[in-house]
Amino acid sequence: MNTAKPLLEIRDLTKRYGGFEALSGVSLDLRDGEIISVLGPSGCGKSTLLQLVAGLARPDGGEIRLDGKTIASQGGMVPPEKRGVNMVFQDYALWPHMNVFENISYGLKNVKMDKETMKHRVLELMRMLHLDGLDGRLPPQLSGGQQQRVAIARALATRPRLMLLDEPLSNLDMRLRIEMRTEMAYLFRQLGMSVFHVTHDPDEAFAMADRLLILRGGKIDQFGSPEECYRRPASRWVASLLGAINRVKGEIVRTPEGIGLKVGSTVLTGLAVAKNEALTEGKPAEILYRPEDLILFASDGSNRMELRVKYCTFEGKRWRCIAESPDGSDAYLLSERPLERGTLLHAALPKEAAYLYIMEEGHSHAGERHQG
Ligand code: ADP
Repeated sequence: MNTAKPLLEIRDLTKRYGGFEALSGVSLDLRDGEIISVLGPSGCGKSTLLQLVAGLARPDGGEIRLDGKTIASQGGMVPPEKRGVNMVFQDYALWPHMNVFENISYGLKNVKMDKETMKHRVLELMRMLHLDGLDGRLPPQLSGGQQQRVAIARALATRPRLMLLDEPLSNLDMRLRIEMRTEMAYLFRQLGMSVFHVTHDPDEAFAMADRLLILRGGKIDQFGSPEECYRRPASRWVASLLGAINRVKGEIVRTPEGIGLKVGSTVLTGLAVAKNEALTEGKPAEILYRPEDLILFASDGSNRMELRVKYCTFEGKRWRCIAESPDGSDAYLLSERPLERGTLLHAALPKEAAYLYIMEEGHSHAGERHQG
């Protein structure tokens, strides 16, 4: 096994549909045994990237290498079945007329293998994926979760160098999604499988990934460990994608405690500067933070602000509220107890949870908010 060289090397990859550039100059390496999750909202180019690696689409520029060999470039394409890459699709794509055993062993028919070895391998995969005893069932006789397990077993059967997962859990209900993402991550790590995984769900990406590749409009916004992306979001767009949905606008001031943001009569000083921002005094800037990071009823702490409760609803376990921030905007927050409308809250924001970003002149926020 070659550990020094990356398994998958993507260099300056570009894909156009007509005049529209779906991927622009994407470069990354995937190490042997690594799980990379490609995360971003619908339309950012995730599936396009996966299809180029699978060989289902041809790049307009750049190169893809697997195990040091070029598999896609403008000069030529290695066909999908010769790449040593298998894909698991969102809709499972099982053969409906074949039973579980036949589906899983499908790819092994083209591999020279005696019947006993094949049977052993299929039964071993069925055991690992908790499908014991279901060999004779047809896909329509299985639950969604079982069908997805069969699809994963089928993709693993030929022992590919790289596994591609395209929104693998989207069709499952929430409880099953939560179970399956942990189980999948555990299984792939046990097998030492290299995985390139696409999802629009940050929770799924965090549960699966060694590294996150965050795509926005066909370009990489951030590529790093889950913790790095979570703690140091490279842009306000990444911050809000990863849950920092609250924003407070103000202007940069210098204080004895360091850089601060003046919001009305409040000055917030404990701030995490995510990247090399030009912190000129008087510049418009904003802080993004997560509702769950706000410390309510804080009696001290340097980074305090007052919030007035506007609305509160029980969501099971705790209350979710909307309150007015010092800049007049809405702040979402979580509370262990119900809060009456009009209540003035003293809240504090830990330094590592208050991400400061400079706002460019005439900057528009259109398209920067994320749903869900
Ligand atoms: P994602 O998987 O992140 O939702 P896609 O890779 O499917 O995004 O698509 C990226 C962009 O490319 C979208 O704007 C989409 O409409 C466009 N696109 C994807 N496939 C095609 C195609 N075959 N023809 C034209 N446009 C396409």
